[in-house]
Amino acid sequence: MNRLVDLRSDTVTQPTAAMREAMAAALVGDDGYGEDPTVNALEARAAALLAKEAAVFVPSGVMANQMAMRVLTSPGDVVVAGANQHVVDFEMGASARNASIQFALVDDSTGQLDLERVREIIDAEADHRAHVGAVAVENTHMPSGGTPWALADLEALARGVERPVHLDGARLFNASVATGTPVSAYAAPATTVMVCLSKGLAAPVGSLLAGPADLMARARIERKRLGGAMRQAGVLAAAGLVALDTMVERLAEDHARARRLADLVADAFPASGYDPSTCTTNIVVFSHPDARALVATLADHGVLAGTLAATRVRLVTHVGVGDDDLEHVAGVLGILGRR
Ligand SMILES: *Cc1c(COP(=O)(O)O)cnc(C)c1O
Repeated sequence: MNRLVDLRSDTVTQPTAAMREAMAAALVGDDGYGEDPTVNALEARAAALLAKEAAVFVPSGVMANQMAMRVLTSPGDVVVAGANQHVVDFEMGASARNASIQFALVDDSTGQLDLERVREIIDAEADHRAHVGAVAVENTHMPSGGTPWALADLEALARGVERPVHLDGARLFNASVATGTPVSAYAAPATTVMVCLSKGLAAPVGSLLAGPADLMARARIERKRLGGAMRQAGVLAAAGLVALDTMVERLAEDHARARRLADLVADAFPASGYDPSTCTTNIVVFSHPDARALVATLADHGVLAGTLAATRVRLVTHVGVGDDDLEHVAGVLGILGRR
C-alpha cells in the first residue's frame, strides 16, 4: 500500500537509460557559435520530421510558444486562440509581457476552434478592430482531455483564416500516434509548430520550434532575448534524439492505459457525466464538485492527480505508469467511488 502512482503530468517522466548513455557520450560545442553537432543534428532531424525549413532547440515549450508569438505578430496585434489553451492560460500572461499582443478567445471546449467564429474576429478588422496577427491552436488540446485535431479540420481552419497559424504541439506526437496522421501532415497547415521532448517522450529538457528559415532566424534572436540561448546543449539534445528514436511509437501504450483509466473514472464517478470514449490520447479530465478535496484523498491513497480548476480533475498517463499501477488506481477509485 506504499505504492505511489504519479498521474499529475507526463512531465514527471525520467530520462531512460539510453538517454543517459547518449547524454554522457554526446559530442558538444558552443551552440552560440552554431558549433554543437548534437544540437545541429537534433534541429535538422526535427525540421525534417516536421517538414519545415528549420527548427530551433529551446529549453521549454513556453519559450517556443513565446518566440512564435514574437515572430508572427507586432505589438498590439490580436492573436485568436482557444480560451483554455496553454499559450493563453498557463504561461503567466507571457504573451502580453513578451510579445505585447492581446488574445481574442474562442470556445475550445471540444478541443477545436470553430472556423466561422475565428473568421468573425478577423472580419471585425473592417470595423475598427485590432489587426489579427496570428491564430494559435493546440494539438493535442490538453484542457478538453488531450483531444487530437482531425487533420481535415486543421487544414480547413488554416485555409479559412488566411493568417499565420501557430501550432502548439507540446503533445503533437500523441496526436500523431492516436490518429495515424504524420506529424509533418499536422505541421503543414501551420506556419510555426512547436513540439515538446520533455513530456511523454521523457527527455529531461527541451522543445523545438520549427518553421520557415527566415522566421526561425528571427526566432533565434528572440530566444537570445529571452535568455534561452544555450552553450554545450548537445548534452540535452542527445536525450532529445533518443526520445524521437525510441519513445514515439510506445505512446500508444499510454493511450491504452488512459482509456482504461477513463473507464474507471466513468464507473467511479457517474455523476461527473464523463464520457470515457472522449479519451483518445493520454489525458483524462473530468468534473468533480470538489476537485481539490478529491485530489487530496487520492494522494492519501498513493495516487497523485492534478486539478485544472476547482471542479476539474486531470489524470495523465506516461511511461512511468504501468498496468500494475492502474490496478492500484482501480482499487482506490473503487473505494472512493462507492462513498
Ligand atoms: C507543457 C505545455 C507547454 C509548455 O511546455 P514547457 O516545456 O512546460 O514550458 C505548452 N503547451 C502545451 C499544450 C503544454 O502542454
